[in-house]
Amino acid sequence: MTRDDARLQRLLETERKKLLADLAYFEQVEYTDISSSNHLADAATAAYDQASDLALLRQAKHRLKRVDRALEKFSNGCYGYCECCGEPIDFARLKALPDARFCLQCQRKREVSGDSPAPGPKALEQGELNHNSKESFA
Ligand SMILES: [Zn+2]
Repeated sequence: MTRDDARLQRLLETERKKLLADLAYFEQVEYTDISSSNHLADAATAAYDQASDLALLRQAKHRLKRVDRALEKFSNGCYGYCECCGEPIDFARLKALPDARFCLQCQRKREVSGDSPAPGPKALEQGELNHNSKESFA
Protein backbone atom coordinates (compact mmCIF):
# COMPACT_ATOMS: atom_id res chain seq x y z
CA MET A 1 0.00 0.00 0.00
CA THR A 2 1.56 3.25 -1.11
CA ARG A 3 -0.85 5.55 0.67
CA ASP A 4 0.12 6.83 4.05
CA ASP A 5 -2.93 5.37 5.76
CA ALA A 6 -1.35 5.43 9.20
CA ARG A 7 -1.01 9.18 8.95
CA LEU A 8 -4.63 9.60 7.87
CA GLN A 9 -5.73 7.39 10.72
CA ARG A 10 -3.77 9.54 13.18
CA LEU A 11 -5.37 12.64 11.68
CA LEU A 12 -8.82 11.15 12.17
CA GLU A 13 -8.05 10.05 15.70
CA THR A 14 -6.77 13.51 16.58
CA GLU A 15 -9.91 15.07 15.15
CA ARG A 16 -12.06 12.59 17.06
CA LYS A 17 -10.41 13.55 20.36
CA LYS A 18 -10.90 17.23 19.60
CA LEU A 19 -14.55 16.69 18.71
CA LEU A 20 -15.16 14.69 21.89
CA ALA A 21 -13.62 17.51 23.93
CA ASP A 22 -15.79 20.05 22.09
CA LEU A 23 -18.89 17.95 22.66
CA ALA A 24 -18.12 17.59 26.36
CA TYR A 25 -17.88 21.37 26.56
CA PHE A 26 -21.10 21.96 24.63
CA GLU A 27 -23.05 19.36 26.62
CA GLN A 28 -22.06 21.22 29.74
CA VAL A 29 -23.18 24.67 28.53
CA GLU A 30 -26.28 23.41 26.75
CA TYR A 31 -28.30 23.17 29.92
CA THR A 32 -27.29 26.43 31.56
CA ASP A 33 -30.36 28.11 32.99
CA ILE A 34 -30.58 31.45 31.18
CA SER A 35 -33.62 32.59 33.18
CA SER A 36 -31.42 32.91 36.27
CA SER A 37 -30.15 36.22 34.90
CA ASN A 38 -31.86 39.35 36.24
CA HIS A 39 -31.11 41.44 33.18
CA LEU A 40 -33.12 40.96 30.02
CA ALA A 41 -30.17 41.94 27.82
CA ASP A 42 -27.96 39.41 29.56
CA ALA A 43 -30.58 36.73 29.05
CA ALA A 44 -30.88 37.64 25.37
CA THR A 45 -27.12 37.47 24.94
CA ALA A 46 -27.03 34.15 26.75
CA ALA A 47 -29.85 32.83 24.58
CA TYR A 48 -28.03 33.94 21.47
CA ASP A 49 -24.80 32.33 22.66
CA GLN A 50 -26.61 29.12 23.41
CA ALA A 51 -28.28 29.09 20.01
CA SER A 52 -24.95 29.38 18.23
CA ASP A 53 -23.46 26.81 20.59
CA LEU A 54 -26.28 24.45 19.69
CA ALA A 55 -25.55 24.90 16.00
CA LEU A 56 -21.90 24.12 16.67
CA LEU A 57 -22.91 21.16 18.80
CA ARG A 58 -24.99 19.71 15.99
CA GLN A 59 -22.13 20.29 13.58
CA ALA A 60 -19.63 18.60 15.92
CA LYS A 61 -21.95 15.60 16.37
CA HIS A 62 -22.28 15.26 12.63
CA ARG A 63 -18.49 15.48 12.16
CA LEU A 64 -17.93 12.91 14.89
CA LYS A 65 -20.25 10.45 13.13
CA ARG A 66 -18.30 10.84 9.92
CA VAL A 67 -14.94 10.49 11.66
CA ASP A 68 -16.15 7.43 13.60
CA ARG A 69 -17.36 5.89 10.38
CA ALA A 70 -14.02 6.51 8.69
CA LEU A 71 -12.13 5.01 11.65
CA GLU A 72 -14.42 1.98 11.54
CA LYS A 73 -13.36 1.44 7.95
CA PHE A 74 -9.76 1.19 9.07
CA SER A 75 -10.67 -1.79 11.24
CA ASN A 76 -12.75 -3.30 8.43
CA GLY A 77 -9.89 -2.83 6.00
CA CYS A 78 -12.07 -0.90 3.57
CA TYR A 79 -10.76 2.58 4.34
CA GLY A 80 -10.03 4.70 1.30
CA TYR A 81 -12.50 2.95 -0.99
CA CYS A 82 -15.52 4.67 -2.48
CA GLU A 83 -18.78 3.53 -0.84
CA CYS A 84 -20.54 3.90 -4.15
CA CYS A 85 -18.33 2.34 -6.84
CA GLY A 86 -15.78 0.54 -4.64
CA GLU A 87 -12.82 2.13 -6.41
CA PRO A 88 -9.93 3.53 -4.34
CA ILE A 89 -10.41 7.18 -3.44
CA ASP A 90 -7.69 9.49 -4.70
CA PHE A 91 -5.06 9.93 -1.99
CA ALA A 92 -4.95 13.71 -2.50
CA ARG A 93 -8.68 13.78 -1.76
CA LEU A 94 -8.21 11.68 1.39
CA LYS A 95 -5.46 13.97 2.59
CA ALA A 96 -7.76 16.97 2.21
CA LEU A 97 -10.81 15.10 3.53
CA PRO A 98 -9.78 12.03 5.56
CA ASP A 99 -13.41 11.10 6.18
CA ALA A 100 -14.40 11.19 2.52
CA ARG A 101 -16.90 8.43 1.73
CA PHE A 102 -16.95 8.71 -2.02
CA CYS A 103 -14.45 9.16 -4.81
CA LEU A 104 -14.54 12.54 -6.51
CA GLN A 105 -16.50 11.19 -9.48
CA CYS A 106 -19.23 9.64 -7.37
CA GLN A 107 -19.36 12.67 -5.08
CA ARG A 108 -19.95 14.90 -8.12
CA LYS A 109 -22.59 12.59 -9.49
CA ARG A 110 -24.39 12.64 -6.16
CA GLU A 111 -24.23 16.40 -5.95
CA VAL A 112 -25.59 16.81 -9.46
CA SER A 113 -28.43 14.32 -8.98
CA GLY A 114 -29.24 15.92 -5.64
CA ASP A 115 -28.81 12.57 -3.90
CA SER A 116 -26.55 13.91 -1.19
CA PRO A 117 -24.88 11.28 1.02
CA ALA A 118 -26.20 13.09 4.08
CA PRO A 119 -29.18 15.27 3.23
CA GLY A 120 -29.01 18.38 5.36
CA PRO A 121 -32.00 20.31 6.65
CA LYS A 122 -31.63 22.64 3.67
CA ALA A 123 -32.25 19.85 1.18
CA LEU A 124 -35.27 18.71 3.13
CA GLU A 125 -36.67 22.22 3.28
CA GLN A 126 -36.26 22.64 -0.46
CA GLY A 127 -38.05 19.35 -1.07
CA GLU A 128 -40.93 20.47 1.08
CA LEU A 129 -41.13 23.85 -0.61
CA ASN A 130 -41.28 22.25 -4.05
CA HIS A 131 -43.92 19.85 -2.87
CA ASN A 132 -46.14 22.49 -1.30
CA SER A 133 -45.74 25.33 -3.78
CA LYS A 134 -48.32 24.03 -6.28
CA GLU A 135 -51.06 23.51 -3.75
CA SER A 136 -50.59 26.67 -1.74
CA PHE A 137 -50.67 28.95 -4.81
CA ALA A 138 -53.58 27.21 -6.55
ZN1 LIG B 1 -16.87 6.13 -6.58
